[in-house]
Amino acid sequence: MPDTRFDQYYRYDALSAVLHDYAARHPALLRLASIGTSHEGRAIWLATVTAFELGDDRDKPGFWIDGNIHAPELAGSSACLYFIHTLLEGYGRDADITRCLDTRVFYICPRVNPDGAEWALSEPPAIIRSGTRAYPYDEAPARGLIREDIDGDGRVLSMRIADPDGPWKISTQDPRLLVPREATESGGDYYRLLPEGRIENYDGALIHTPPPAQGLDFNRNFPAKWREEAEQTGAGPFPASEPEVHSVVRFIAAHPNICGGVAFHCYSGVLLRPLSYESDDALPAEDLWVYRKIGAQGTALTGYPAASAFHEFRYHPKDIITGALDDWLYEQQGVFAWTVEIWSPQREAGIGEYRYIDWYRDHPIEDDLKLLKWNDAALNGAGFVPWYPYDHPQLGRVELGGWDPLFTFWNPPPALLEKEIARFPQWLVWHALLSPQLEWHELSATALGNDTYLIRAVVRNSGWLPSNITQLALDKKRVRGLVCELDLPAGARLSQGEARIELGQLEGRALKPASTFGWAGGVSDPTRNRAKAEWLVQAAPGTVISVRARHPRAGAISRELILS
Ligand SMILES: [Zn+2]
Repeated sequence: MPDTRFDQYYRYDALSAVLHDYAARHPALLRLASIGTSHEGRAIWLATVTAFELGDDRDKPGFWIDGNIHAPELAGSSACLYFIHTLLEGYGRDADITRCLDTRVFYICPRVNPDGAEWALSEPPAIIRSGTRAYPYDEAPARGLIREDIDGDGRVLSMRIADPDGPWKISTQDPRLLVPREATESGGDYYRLLPEGRIENYDGALIHTPPPAQGLDFNRNFPAKWREEAEQTGAGPFPASEPEVHSVVRFIAAHPNICGGVAFHCYSGVLLRPLSYESDDALPAEDLWVYRKIGAQGTALTGYPAASAFHEFRYHPKDIITGALDDWLYEQQGVFAWTVEIWSPQREAGIGEYRYIDWYRDHPIEDDLKLLKWNDAALNGAGFVPWYPYDHPQLGRVELGGWDPLFTFWNPPPALLEKEIARFPQWLVWHALLSPQLEWHELSATALGNDTYLIRAVVRNSGWLPSNITQLALDKKRVRGLVCELDLPAGARLSQGEARIELGQLEGRALKPASTFGWAGGVSDPTRNRAKAEWLVQAAPGTVISVRARHPRAGAISRELILS
């Protein structure tokens, strides 16, 4: 077993080496392939993890997992690597992992955005949202503040500038902390805050903060209710315009066996679910019920609350987001998908219930003091840089300092990384095991005389979810039903029935009630998880025929029968 370290973040070459090492050491369980090439020409790696000797990956229900589509959200890659490591270590030892890899397949893309991650991991870090391609314009902004490590200490911090109109003042409780100036207050020392950087074409008076030259957001570029740039910042020129997004979309669309997915992001410590752009009222009730059950188990296994992106994770109460991967997986592929925001420094610091993005708009100063205390005790002060004077080439004397967010807020500090990403494997395995799964209930050939045989195939869904997965997939006809086929050799003849029979969807147990006492009396469980096909075949005794059942999501099974 390769000795992967989870107390560090991997740059591209090291990450690639780890993945190739896994593939070389575990050829029976992991195959590595590139699903596309990034803007800067890096291969986008995808690990297919399953017990290959028990069936081709495409014949098994699958589960998609990706990370690091946003450039600085590096712990997403780590969570994927850690999960792969857990699967490889656990196969043959852990009963759930073994069953899961025997019967299901994981498609894991640890770093969707290798270019942006490489920028974030360079020294000093260059922090952008997603892609490194200049967008929407080819050139950098002509004026305004360009965020960069201006004093060359390897960090991009904040600048505080004394200014009588500044909205901040130094806290009396902790001199490191800036707190809002009171509404009518005057006569004190006030500060303006800006990101560390230089000002292009500074006129000595006005400081603009233009959007970054690299304005793409890959997680707004998916074809889920995609909206143009004027409505959705970072959307890209057209749906799936960016090679990284296009690679993911093309791969998932070509793998209809994918029954669910998780996209790892940072941060907030929450399991987010679709829709992002519409109220829960827009979801079929059945899907909402199932989402809640999966979320409750997610909370039990990971410690993260499960929340609706629309109702609980809005950047502005009047804004929605569109073009996200989890929405596309749900809305277009019709499967249950999540955005997992890894890591919550607020929770680490002992700030109890907090409402994600809303917390940034408003929270008590006590919360900031708790965060500083946590920084001093748990991080040995590494997360917050005390303010220090700096002679800025354009602004004169300023102070640099403040939170160093990359490995404090945006990602777990390396020493706390493994503990954080160890939360997920159990839930991911459980989630994958929810999928529908085809199995033979009965397969028989009965001799009726005169070289005539009755072939009877009964197929069952042994999984928890129905074969269609979501109600939405059923309503919008996004998923084909079960197909049962007979393959006859030369000399055999079908005398009744059609060689290919369509059998529709198979029920699962996901929507069964919680009590055996139903609304109108007792509960009834007819065998809607089974389907039957029958054929009459004319063939000589000893003929070998083949029967195959396949469903785009629930898998494919086949068996040979010897007529006797
Ligand atoms: Zn993100």
